[in-house]
Amino acid sequence: MPLLRLASRFGRVHRRYIRHNLQFCIEYRVRGISSPDAEGRIIIMSGTIKTMRTAASDIRFANPDVTADGAPRAQVELRALSTLWFNTGTLCNIECAHCYIESSPRNDQLVYLTSSDVRLYLDEVQTLGYPTGEIGFTGGEPFMNPDMISMASICLERGHEVLILTNAMQPMQRPGVKGALLKLRSAYGDALKLRVSIDHFSEALHESERGPGTFIHTLKGLDWLAENDFSFTVAGRTRFGEDEKILREGYQQLFSARGYKLDAVDPAQLVLFPEMDEQAAVPEITTACWGILDISPDAMMCASSRMIVKRKGAASTVVLPCTLLAYDPAFEMGSSLTEAADADGGNFENGAVKLNHPHCAKFCVLGGGSCSQ
Ligand code: SF4
Repeated sequence: MPLLRLASRFGRVHRRYIRHNLQFCIEYRVRGISSPDAEGRIIIMSGTIKTMRTAASDIRFANPDVTADGAPRAQVELRALSTLWFNTGTLCNIECAHCYIESSPRNDQLVYLTSSDVRLYLDEVQTLGYPTGEIGFTGGEPFMNPDMISMASICLERGHEVLILTNAMQPMQRPGVKGALLKLRSAYGDALKLRVSIDHFSEALHESERGPGTFIHTLKGLDWLAENDFSFTVAGRTRFGEDEKILREGYQQLFSARGYKLDAVDPAQLVLFPEMDEQAAVPEITTACWGILDISPDAMMCASSRMIVKRKGAASTVVLPCTLLAYDPAFEMGSSLTEAADADGGNFENGAVKLNHPHCAKFCVLGGGSCSQ
C-alpha cells in the first residue's frame, strides 16, 4: 500500500505545498507513520513525509508560461469583479478530515481580518468602479471572527449582498451573534445570505468528515435560520460516491423532514462540491483545452472573483485570484485591488491569472467546482 494512503488510514494528514525552482514538493505531516517508500520517492523526516517531484520526473506546473509538453499555458482574465471574497481567518471550531484549507481550532495561518481591512477594499471597489454586487465571507468558520457581524454590516450598508459560508454550529448560535443576525435580517432582508455546509445527508457520513455530534449541532443552526426566515442554501460534497440524483434525493428528504424551504434539485440551493484529491494525477491546462473541452475561461472563478487574506505575521493583507489558492505565495497579486489589476510576471500577465496550479485543472477546469455557484 502506498505510504501516503497508509498514513491517511491511520491518522490525520496535513498537506503543505512547497515550490523550489523546478521542484514541486508536497509535505505531509502525519502522526505515527514511519516506514520508507519502496520506490524511494518519499522521505521521512521525524513525522514528516515529503513527496518530491523532481525536474527529471515531473515538471508540471513549473513554468507559468508553458506546460511540461511545451504548449502555451491557459490563462484567465478578470472579466468583472462580481464577487469579492474575504477569508475571515482559518481558525474553525471543528476539524474536518478533508478540509480544502485545513481549518482547525489551531490553524491560524490566515489570521482574522478586521472591519478596517474590509472597509479599505470596499472603498477601492467604489473608486475603481467595479460592479461588485456580492461580498463573500469564508474561513475557517467566519463566526469565530469577532468582527464578522460588523464586517457584514459594513458591506450591507453600502448596498452589497453578503454571503457567509458557515457550519451554523456554536459560533453562529451564540446569543449575541443570533441577535445581531436577526437585526441584519430585519434591516436588509435577503441581501444577507448564508450557505451552510452539510457534507452528507446522513449523520454517519457527515460525521465521518466532521466528527461526532456535529450533525445535530448544524441542524439546530439550520432550524434556527429556517424558523427566522433567513435566506440560506446548503453546500454538500460528492466524496462519498453516490450518483448525483441519489445524493440530491437524500438531501431533499432531509430538507423536507426538517421543514427547510430548499429545492435540492436546484444547484444554486444545494451546491455539490467535487472532491479535491491532492494525490490524484492531473493534466495541465493549455490554451487548446478551452476548445477541446468546450469550456469558457469566463466560467472560472478567477474571471469574476478575488479573495483577500491576511497571513500570520504579514504586514498587510493580500489579494489572491480565488478562494482555492489560499496558501501559495506564488499567487499573491499585491496588497490592493489596483495592484492586482496590473499584476504581471510569474503567474500573472497584466492582471490575468496563468493556470499554473493543480487546483486549476483538478477543481476548476476539469472538476467544475466554483465557490461562486
Ligand atoms: S484554482 Fe480555479 S479559480 Fe483559482 S486561479 Fe486556478 S482556475 Fe482560477
